[in-house]
Amino acid sequence: MIRLERLTKCYPGQQTTAVRELTMDIPAGEIVVFVGPSGCGKTTTMKLINRLIEPTSGRIHLDGTDVTEVNPDQLRRKIGYAIQQTGLFPHRTVADNIATVPRMLGWDAKRIDARVDELLDLVGLEPTAYRNRYPKQLSGGQQQRVGVARALGGDPDVMLMDEPFGAIDPLNREALQNEFLRIHAELGKTIVFVTHDIDEAIKMGDRIAIFREGGQVAQYDTPERILAQ
Ligand code: ADP
Ligand code: ADP
Repeated sequence: MIRLERLTKCYPGQQTTAVRELTMDIPAGEIVVFVGPSGCGKTTTMKLINRLIEPTSGRIHLDGTDVTEVNPDQLRRKIGYAIQQTGLFPHRTVADNIATVPRMLGWDAKRIDARVDELLDLVGLEPTAYRNRYPKQLSGGQQQRVGVARALGGDPDVMLMDEPFGAIDPLNREALQNEFLRIHAELGKTIVFVTHDIDEAIKMGDRIAIFREGGQVAQYDTPERILAQ
């Protein structure tokens, strides 16, 4: 479980607070969706969980441990991160991209190869057809699948996904959503998922956090209870 305790982030030189006094429990194994307009602190909250940035005040606990006491390498293993622009390395093959974290973990070549094939299968890309391609030889949806596979590389407990399907056309987006729900059902990871799209939030989320301007959460509840209001 992830526990956020009065988490606050003010970027230097900014008038507004990006995240303000955010307190929230994210239960293990659930998909929690952050939804809300641009600029209300969703990405900043993800980066704080990941320790890509440090909070101004407040705490983050991961399975009862303060994340500031976990070394950054270990945190990268525990938390996978996938973003809209995929961040795939353009000069590395699909296999090389997916192998990023396993290599960092010092796995041998055979184990890495097997892992890459397993993950390509999982995200619906035929390994022999795709492992040696470069990102630019793939469609946006395929790149996104590789981005998800890469984030899963080290078998993290937690996945942070920042608008992973934001740039995908509606038809492929629905296919990716369904596939992602299948992967979640299979692997049972804790997932924090950011979207602008309330329909996507309702479809994907076990719980939804509705962010509002000023970096606060207006509501945090199940889709059913949010819709009933
Ligand atoms: P969201 O993900 O909801 O679109 P962000 O977390 O990206 O919101 O941004 C929240 C606020 O923090 C915005 O006002 C944004 O301009 C500001 N912000 C985000 N990143 C930085 C940064 N690196 N430096 C300064 N201000 C930032
Ligand atoms: P999104 O809305 O998808 O979260 P943004 O366009 O807000 O993305 O941010 C893109 C990048 O720019 C992020 O790395 C964020 O940290 C940075 N950023 C956002 N707002 C600011 C800002 N006001 N000053 C500096 N960097 C910013």
